[in-house]
Amino acid sequence: MTHLEDLPIRADLRGKTPYGAPQAVVPVALNVNENTHPIPEVVAHDIVARVAAAVIGVNRYPDREFTELRTALAGYLGHGVRPEQVWAANGSNEVLQHVLQAFGGPGRTALGFAPTYSMYGLLAAGTGTAWVTAGRDEAFELSPETAVAAVREHDPDIVLLCAPNNPTGTPLSLETVRAVADAARGIVVVDEAYIEFADPGSESALTLLAGRPRLAISRTMSKAFAFAGARVGYLAADPALVDALRLVRLPYHLSAITQAAALGALAHAREMLAMVDEIRGQRERISAELERLGFRPYRSGANFVLFGGVEDPHATFEALLARGILIRDVGLPGSLRVTAGTETETTAFLEAMAAFAPNRIEA
Ligand SMILES: *Cc1c(COP(=O)(O)O)cnc(C)c1O
Repeated sequence: MTHLEDLPIRADLRGKTPYGAPQAVVPVALNVNENTHPIPEVVAHDIVARVAAAVIGVNRYPDREFTELRTALAGYLGHGVRPEQVWAANGSNEVLQHVLQAFGGPGRTALGFAPTYSMYGLLAAGTGTAWVTAGRDEAFELSPETAVAAVREHDPDIVLLCAPNNPTGTPLSLETVRAVADAARGIVVVDEAYIEFADPGSESALTLLAGRPRLAISRTMSKAFAFAGARVGYLAADPALVDALRLVRLPYHLSAITQAAALGALAHAREMLAMVDEIRGQRERISAELERLGFRPYRSGANFVLFGGVEDPHATFEALLARGILIRDVGLPGSLRVTAGTETETTAFLEAMAAFAPNRIEA
């Protein structure tokens, strides 16, 4: 049997493993931070009607500039963002790949703050960009001083700031974003995949866009929007930065079907986002209950919670899986990560965790 190592694969890809969150079919899947609430049926019907109309015209290539979608996304973002400042692709992973293709590459460096989103390193590897990580402060926080010191040390071409950070949930202050944007000579991407789950009153880095042509804010419809299966991510930046991304995208990268589906979802943004408050409530419930059980949940502004104090993460993960509950072992010592699901899913998770509680009373 041929192994990929036997093939003339690029030297810098040798020994690498692909992104691999387990995709098991289980009753309670809380492992990849999806919105576990299905989309409202009336919205689904409208999306189907729009997709059906798009299918009639699939003999033609789609609008390469996805003008209608960019306009709808700009409207959703607000903050005075104009359509020419918007870019979109098949998931924000592809958006980030475009940024790395245009501004990274051989001889260039991207900087992140570990632990952070595992795809950053893989996207860097795929584009031949060197990936360097710097550490965080206590409890995974990231102060302006710590972030700026790393930017000074590594002088990166691209900085990837995950806000709130995956897998820790840590919100990121605008002071840190501003300080990094001021200190860096390269592109600064703020990945706001989870921003809709941030506590009310939190500000988006979109408020910092004006006058910062090297700043980009990436977003996704995969999380709060409950649209992970449709694959739509987007970014807001200076029109010149968006123009750079046109140099590296494949022609017609957003299918007519994807564009129609995304427009349908955006036309119902309020209904699509209706469960966000409920999910935030379940997140708070998870944090409070895990703390009561003696675990150490970290501060989260996302739809998931990372918690420490787990004696044997691997055994706990397996025991939950045996009960049909899939969470995530992100490889941090003594820690596991769980997505805030529906109330029922969250209850199932919390009841299962009681058996492993540091504070449990032995029968
Ligand atoms: C889930 C996630 C994304 C979104 O990926 P898509 O490709 O849009 O589905 C981006 N960044 C982070 C940090 C994520 O956790």
